Amino acid sequence: MFDRASVVTPGGVNSPVRAFRAVGGTPRFMVSGTGPYLTDADGREYVDLVCSWGPMILGHSHPEVIAAVHETASRGTSFGTPGEGEVALAEEIVARIEPVEQVRLVSSGTEATMSAIRLARGFTGRAKVVKFAGCYHGHVDALLAAAGSGVATFGLPDTPGVTGATAGDTVVLPYNDLDAVRAAFAAHPGEIACVITEASPGNMGVVPPADGFNAGLKELCAANGALYISDEVMTGFRTSKAGWYGVDGVRPDLMTFGKVMGGGFPAAAFGGRRDVMAHLAPAGPVYQAGTLSGNPVATAAGLAQLRLLDDAAYAKIDAVSAELRGLVGGALTKEGVAHTVSAASNMFSVFFTDEPVRDYDDAKKQDVFRFTAFFHAMLEQGVYLPPSAFESWFVSTAHDERAVERIAAALPAAARAASEATA
Ligand code: PLP
Repeated sequence: MFDRASVVTPGGVNSPVRAFRAVGGTPRFMVSGTGPYLTDADGREYVDLVCSWGPMILGHSHPEVIAAVHETASRGTSFGTPGEGEVALAEEIVARIEPVEQVRLVSSGTEATMSAIRLARGFTGRAKVVKFAGCYHGHVDALLAAAGSGVATFGLPDTPGVTGATAGDTVVLPYNDLDAVRAAFAAHPGEIACVITEASPGNMGVVPPADGFNAGLKELCAANGALYISDEVMTGFRTSKAGWYGVDGVRPDLMTFGKVMGGGFPAAAFGGRRDVMAHLAPAGPVYQAGTLSGNPVATAAGLAQLRLLDDAAYAKIDAVSAELRGLVGGALTKEGVAHTVSAASNMFSVFFTDEPVRDYDDAKKQDVFRFTAFFHAMLEQGVYLPPSAFESWFVSTAHDERAVERIAAALPAAARAASEATA
């Protein structure tokens, strides 16, 4: 299948990290998913710790999500008109996340961040955007400077195709460094439209904000007439009922969402202060649109998923995450492998270094070759990890004792492989 795919698609995949280039080998083509398990085209079953890079927080093929999809699709799949499903999903988001007074639905996290920075620029009449090295906000031209995720994996500081003019309005700063943000505001007085940050980064591996970092960003933005944009595409509806906002309570001007809120379908959103959102067309002059925005099937899936995500669901995900972190850390310690299990609520990743990781430069200092050996040993034993040392691992409510036991059984050999790996 990969050979077939490589003929008709660049690199054989529709999103770069899927190609396994960071770890080598042939990507698995998945044909089905049930609960915490994926089955590939050769009939092998894996415990899934990627969860579609975050969205599948209830596991695969959750019966209530699937029923909502069937029921909605049976009445038609897209109308290009307003519909009740998108109103209900917007109401659910507004009800959960207090700083979101109004929300606009889009189809991908990339669209959400792209639209949010356009809105911030339109609202403030300023051009410059501050972002942090290692934070990934999708493949928005202006935000592809020193991005994490696939860009981190490939070590591309930038990408051909993004013009100097576009990148020239982006100021890239080290993560977790408020002095750098202060200096940027001092160097560009009256020019910075917004600071965009991952609410808690998961695209350079999991690197949580230091105490007071997000609050400091908010304060500096407010003092300098810029908007504070919290990108919750990954953390939203995952790290708590109200995402990372539910964890640190720092109130953004704008927020972006995706992944979990689509229930495995392309649905994403941006929202926030009513006075800022009022600048969006057709209410205001900042243009933004989408043929499939608020798609009925995607909104039905997302709404069904969100309605199942109650306190008990988050308690379960948190508990499974904590158990796995303990097991992974224990196995690596036993084999004497230098590592740091880094967590932000129930998101976590393993850095193969015992030095503290506070930013992207720290993350890059890990022994990536050890992750590669660890990854393949887990894969061989039927555990599907993200195929990169710079990605978060994700668990779901469906990860039960049996799934955890299978992971636990695979860990000793994987830890040994990591210990024996050479650069
Ligand atoms: N923002 C963050 C924090 C993300 O993690 C991602 C994707 O991983 C995006 C934005 C882009 O979302 P999408 O892949 O849906 O375009």
